[in-house]
Amino acid sequence: MSEINHADGAGAPAGPAAAPASHDSPSSAQTTIAALATAQGSGGIAIVRLSGPLSGKLLARLFVPGSAAFTGFRPWTLHHGRILDASGRELDDVLCVLMPGPGSYTGEDCAEIHCHGGQAIVSAILETLFACGAVPAKRGEFSRRAYLNGRMDLSQAEAVAELIAAPGREALEQSLRRLDGELSRRVTQVRSRLETVRVHMSLAVDFPDDEVEILDRPDFLVRVREAEQALQELLCGVERARVTRSGARVVLAGSVNAGKSSLMNALLGVSRALVTDVPGTTRDFIEESVLFGDLPVRLVDTAGLRDSDDTVESLGIERSREQIERADCLVLVVDGSAGDAAEDEGSVCPDRVVGDLLESAPADLPVLVLWNKADLRRPSGRPAWCRRSGGGLPPFMCVSALTGEGIDRFCETARDCILGSLPPAGESVAPNDRQARALRGAAGELSALSRDIEAGQLYDLLSVRLDMACAFLDDAIGVGTAQDVLNRVFESFCIGK
Ligand code: GDP
Repeated sequence: MSEINHADGAGAPAGPAAAPASHDSPSSAQTTIAALATAQGSGGIAIVRLSGPLSGKLLARLFVPGSAAFTGFRPWTLHHGRILDASGRELDDVLCVLMPGPGSYTGEDCAEIHCHGGQAIVSAILETLFACGAVPAKRGEFSRRAYLNGRMDLSQAEAVAELIAAPGREALEQSLRRLDGELSRRVTQVRSRLETVRVHMSLAVDFPDDEVEILDRPDFLVRVREAEQALQELLCGVERARVTRSGARVVLAGSVNAGKSSLMNALLGVSRALVTDVPGTTRDFIEESVLFGDLPVRLVDTAGLRDSDDTVESLGIERSREQIERADCLVLVVDGSAGDAAEDEGSVCPDRVVGDLLESAPADLPVLVLWNKADLRRPSGRPAWCRRSGGGLPPFMCVSALTGEGIDRFCETARDCILGSLPPAGESVAPNDRQARALRGAAGELSALSRDIEAGQLYDLLSVRLDMACAFLDDAIGVGTAQDVLNRVFESFCIGK
């Protein structure tokens, strides 16, 4: 079996299909990588992807066209035929496409083999490609090559991975905007405005005696503040993006035996949390992912809160309080079967735990009150005690974890409350955590720079801060990003992307 020579293409067998004209791709010295681009497992079709200088030659060797009219691969055109193994035996009926660089995803010659989605077929095709000179792609290597070949910047490459992982529509739209380069454009705009400031500051250092016309301090201040404001606008979508991408933390809290674990199970549709009528069964917290409509949610069932002498249970209660502090939404569960009509009318919550949490929850934290076990007893209306410390009325709903009554309405209401508590989505490009850290770093430097300008600091000291701010901005979009950061980013990708 002859391998195709990377350097000069010698050894490329005269296959039935003609390879596209070769060209100097930006990374033509690189290996040719191959990987399954679709998900692992069986499916209707699977796509095996190639990138690198051998892509065209490998297809030319292994593809047998299905039509006598085939005269060679037309770029960006699907061709029907058979794919062979290295010894010339047919492996599958396929569609193949060649996408020559530099206009391809990676900037290199790329190819795709659309085969039937069986694991044996995919393995055989990949083994053949590896036997003929391709090498297995590492995680995110296609996107890494796209980044290295200047096809996209780091924030766009990250948007690709986030697009694939997006759990709902909003996260999808944000990722698409970043894939379009919106974040990079806005950061670059700020960066180039700061560049002007930097030039004038250098002039001020080099020509301190007004030999050339330079911006004065108030002008510097205005420009630096504008730049900081632009960064703050970018950052205001971060919290909403965290929630729509990673899930809102919805914490079920209340007294022991109120039915929190039963509610968790009803919301998950499976028996995950342990349910018994022995108070104090949930001794730690349980966390699971669910969707409330299109909103991803990390649902947390906490240990019931009460005074306890049991060390293990006390630790669980401590953890519950920590969970409540980290919540994006607090759901207070009341055992509706426990009280009586007089207590419903009173202004003091008969459940001390729920009363305390209604009192102490931060004003900006969405809180919902669920009257559980409504199948056993229900109030005539909203109980008088169901109000927050500032007088606000939290949504109040009767539900039954046992019969499922009210559960769907609760999910809708919780979703609306959570999204309603965040800044509107608008046209936000929502930086991810890594980008947000860099943008916050830049905003911090700019804010310190404003103070230094006002305090009359020397221009060369101001320049140092300005350089730091610019370096943070470069980091956000991946200009000159260190190898270890790139490794971390691309290692989080899937293979084949
Ligand atoms: P937790 O301590 O708050 O997690 O409470 P559990 O979920 O363990 O429930 C305590 C008891 O209440 C169990 O016996 C459940 O079967 C019962 N229970 C929970 N929800 C309901 C409900 O909606 N209706 C009725 N009738 N019983 C419920």
